[in-house]
Amino acid sequence: PEFITVQELANRMTERSSDVVKALMKLGVMATITQTIDADTAELIVTEFGHTIKRVTEGDVEIGIEGDTDTEGDLLPRPPVVTIMGHVDHGKTSLLDALRATDVVAGEAGGITQHIGAYQVTMPSGHKITFLDTPGHAAFTEMRARGANVTDIVVLVVAANDSIMPQTIEAINHAKAAGVPIIVAINKIDLPDANPNKVRQDLLQHEIVLEEMGGDTMAVELSAKKKINLDKLEETILLQAEMLNLRANPNRRANGTVVEAKLEQGRGNVATVLVENGTLRVGDIFVAGAESGRVRALLDDRGNSVKQALPGQPVEVLGLQGAPEAGDKINVVEDDARAREIAAYRARKKREQAAASIARRTNSLEQMIA
Ligand code: GDP
Ligand code: MG
Repeated sequence: PEFITVQELANRMTERSSDVVKALMKLGVMATITQTIDADTAELIVTEFGHTIKRVTEGDVEIGIEGDTDTEGDLLPRPPVVTIMGHVDHGKTSLLDALRATDVVAGEAGGITQHIGAYQVTMPSGHKITFLDTPGHAAFTEMRARGANVTDIVVLVVAANDSIMPQTIEAINHAKAAGVPIIVAINKIDLPDANPNKVRQDLLQHEIVLEEMGGDTMAVELSAKKKINLDKLEETILLQAEMLNLRANPNRRANGTVVEAKLEQGRGNVATVLVENGTLRVGDIFVAGAESGRVRALLDDRGNSVKQALPGQPVEVLGLQGAPEAGDKINVVEDDARAREIAAYRARKKREQAAASIARRTNSLEQMIA
């Protein structure tokens, strides 16, 4: 049964209608803003956007969106989420390791570094930065293909002795396609044959104009190996983040994105989640992709048990019934019944999408043969 126009739904959620159209596309529903969608689909979209909904009666077409839309006053700055990209051997892993070691909190708290797919660094000023620690382009494009745009800033690592290489160009194209700002990390400046100016020149050919050349892309000369200018890179990231005005409301039910998920011996299904809005707490009931669950434990990037995770914070979540996929949305909901209902709905949508894609492939195969 038809229920609400895309435009009206967007208005009620105070979201951009183009974002709602995109979210629908992700579900395999092609609709323009004037088209009407059914209640089940509308409900799913509302949840995807992190709003809560209320059905007046079971199966009724009336959905009231509860007043938990974030207002200006609810929003607080949140840490930026950074992905490091660049050509092989230009120093992505070295930089991730070096940056991780700059964390001022880690020193005191001890704890062994856990690779959970993301980590957070606290700077001496108290500001935090979140790094996705699966370097390379595959993870970035895969997440994006699944509709998850968690990266706020791309740090493009370019070795100063090697300059622009094929994967550097690829990374530039990925970042541009995603509309994510780039900060250039001109790495390996400790090497005698380092030539940072060549990097600046070569970038021009790919329409990256650095600030010092009259453009608006920031760059930092550094050495991941010798730990030179790491603080400068972090300050530059924070500056860029400030310009992006990244904010979230910690005082609401959490929603976020699954960065990694796996089945582990003795621990069950474990997902690394990046909280995007709200606060995720132990005991929360949630839907992650087509799986539901209740947060049994939360572990930070040092393996410490924590009671909650704030916006921008990566955290391991225990208590999933099954394993979701990287890029899946996680939403905290009011109760178990609701979680199961949404999980079932998403599972059905997934099956329908899979069936549709098989049908499409069969069709095109038939056309090719004909
Ligand atoms: P990735 O493939 O981009 O992850 O690159 P790696 O971090 O694995 O680094 C490739 C090689 O470059 C390793 O041998 C690193 O030790 C070296 N390397 C990384 N950063 C620097 C640097 O700042 N200076 C120098 N001299 N070598 C570096
Ligand atoms: Mg590497």
